[in-house]
Amino acid sequence: SIDINGVTKRFGDFVALDDVNVTIPTGQLTALLGPSGGGKSTLLRVIAGLENADSGSISIEGVDATKLPPQKRNVGFVFQHYAVFKHMTVAKNVAFGLEIRKRPKDEIAARVDELLKLVHLSQFSHRLPSQLSGGQRQRMALARALAVEPTVLLLDEPFGALDAKVRKELRDWLRRLHDEVHVTTVFVTHDQEEAMEVADEIVVINEGRVEQIGSPDQLYDEPANHFVMGFLGETT
Ligand code: ATP
Ligand code: MG
Repeated sequence: SIDINGVTKRFGDFVALDDVNVTIPTGQLTALLGPSGGGKSTLLRVIAGLENADSGSISIEGVDATKLPPQKRNVGFVFQHYAVFKHMTVAKNVAFGLEIRKRPKDEIAARVDELLKLVHLSQFSHRLPSQLSGGQRQRMALARALAVEPTVLLLDEPFGALDAKVRKELRDWLRRLHDEVHVTTVFVTHDQEEAMEVADEIVVINEGRVEQIGSPDQLYDEPANHFVMGFLGETT
């Protein structure tokens, strides 16, 4: 599990995360859901080690990660505007993390093949990212994040920039992918419908505080407060 214990994060006087306590179970697909400015990205960045908390601790699979740098936390990332390598083919982009880790060539080739199958991009392995659709590019980014077999996959609105139809396709695809690979995944979204349809469990965050943690059914049937009720009732 990912255990977030009493995490507080300030930017100057502004409290972006206020004593956040969350346990994210191993192997689940968990959504961080909440309005803009609520602290979702900040929490994801604290889990990744891209921001340090002012107080509290984080452990990942029992290992205290609070003071570990990002590269020692074994997390994979996909951001909304993922920095793909424009001059590298799809296969090279996916292989990148394995190449910098100096894995054997044949091992890399086999792993890249397997990953491209998983994200349904095998026939595009020699293309450049500019020759892919937005959804295909995000699938490539996911394959690249998965290449190094992270313990945890962190996705910050990876489909946010895409149109509604492609978002829906990717959301269904992410659910199926997760059912295949079972990597502990934390998925940020401000879209309650996306969270309700995709996630095993939802953490609702607002103004730096956790409002509720529960399955989609629990949130729907027993919203903890008016905020959760109102937010889930909104349509985008
Ligand atoms: P969105 O859905 O818009 O991405 P979010 O829930 O991801 O929102 P965060 O990016 O976590 O929100 O930001 C939480 C709050 O912290 C916001 O009010 C934001 O302005 C503030 N904040 C985030 N990063 C910084 C920073 N580096 N310096 C100052 N304030 C920041
Ligand atoms: Mg954000």
